[in-house]
Amino acid sequence: MSARQAAPRLRYAPSPTGDPHVGNIRTALWSWLHARRYGGAFIVRIEDTDQARAVAGADERILASLRWLGLDWDEGPDAGGPHAPYVQSQRLPLYREAAERLIAAGRAYRCFDTPEQLAAMRSEQRAQGRPVGYDGRCRALSRESSDARASSGEPCVVRFRMPDDGSTAFRDAIRGDIRVENATLDDFVILKSDGFPTYHLAHVVDDHEMAITHVTRGDEWIPSTPRHVRLIEALGWTPPSYVHTPVILGPDGGKLSKRHGARSVLEYADEGFLPDALFNFLAITGWSLDDHTELISRDELIENFDIADLVPNPAVFDTTKLEWMNGAYLRTVDPARLADLFEERLAQDLSGRAALPLERPLVEATVPLARERIKRLSELAPLVDFLFTGEIVAPEPGTLLGKPYRGRRPEAERALGACCSALAALESWTSEAIEGALRALAAELDERAGSLFMLCRVAATGRPITPPLFETLELIGRERTLARLRSAQETLGA
Ligand code: GLU
Repeated sequence: MSARQAAPRLRYAPSPTGDPHVGNIRTALWSWLHARRYGGAFIVRIEDTDQARAVAGADERILASLRWLGLDWDEGPDAGGPHAPYVQSQRLPLYREAAERLIAAGRAYRCFDTPEQLAAMRSEQRAQGRPVGYDGRCRALSRESSDARASSGEPCVVRFRMPDDGSTAFRDAIRGDIRVENATLDDFVILKSDGFPTYHLAHVVDDHEMAITHVTRGDEWIPSTPRHVRLIEALGWTPPSYVHTPVILGPDGGKLSKRHGARSVLEYADEGFLPDALFNFLAITGWSLDDHTELISRDELIENFDIADLVPNPAVFDTTKLEWMNGAYLRTVDPARLADLFEERLAQDLSGRAALPLERPLVEATVPLARERIKRLSELAPLVDFLFTGEIVAPEPGTLLGKPYRGRRPEAERALGACCSALAALESWTSEAIEGALRALAAELDERAGSLFMLCRVAATGRPITPPLFETLELIGRERTLARLRSAQETLGA
């Protein structure tokens, strides 16, 4: 884009029919990047004119998905803006006015066919082996009769009159020129009998009113685009640039779907992916900086992304890469930011099991211990919960004995008693001092150090897998460690 061109305005226009899927949100993310790169605007518009498909609360979850990914919007619900409201059901007069204007110009007409009549028309078309579509029978109604029937309250829709011959062409930024014969396109509905517009009319009106420069949307809309181009022309407006993004494929080459484990953005959040990692991953699923760089910061993406560089062939959603990328982000995120993410996640996962707010220094101390050991935030609580939960971890005797002490319960009980005495006597509670004492004790008891360490680990944490033992005990604290070791000793003695 040259500097002299107007700043681009791109929109994300979801229908509130469910949580946004990663494929859908990737198009929003690319639009956001393009807008940010060129100092333009990113606009969110809720397209809720199909009331039957609307799901309660879906609009809030759509906005929550955008917020979680850091896709802030310049205009839209909440934010407002010069073209408010940004919810289609609150803009109905605009669509009606456009439909009336088209009727007045002879470019659209009312249609009073009943559903039964339309069904009969279709089955006749099928029986005759003709293409199924509206045959234009209401075109012949006179304006007077149409007006009279409408004012008497007879239900009707408004249809756009497509040209009978010739063709319609448009340019898609990704696929180039596309041309369709008008004869293949029937007179489609623009206003429904409930007074709501169809998607075709509503988005065309809004994209014009909101001065959208690039219509970015999934390529399933390509077949409808010639209709939109004709509508725009009939309304006397200029078409936007079209950018139809390719689908994302699952690993088996089929369109990505739930069966591939593809989920909504908020499900990825629940599963412990970091917003920055999912952002990076989606940005490069179907776009590349060069032929090798995969970890790219948000700023670098903004500096380099251009919607015109997208290619038509679909990319494959590589879950293994996403997991890897999330692990890589966990290891590189600034520790203070990671502590925030850890705190938020632990408070959620340990709710009811730990006192809130969590002790911040303890959360900070888990960052170096846990960041290398998890690939997702959801793995954090099972790894460090014992740092935040109360006194007792209460492992079963079988878990306590494990392999090293299987069949040697009295030895394990005695060893725990000796650990308590040794640890109670330490002058300072540091990981070095703890390690020194436990190693010396293993030698004294003639036990393998590894066996004794495992016993202490399970007694103090309830788990056989934890971050490194001595640092962990230091964090648990002397009092709690001793209380847990004593409790384990009692368990074995019972
Ligand atoms: N409301 C449409 C959808 O959710 C948007 C298509 C478009 O972006 O124009 O599929």
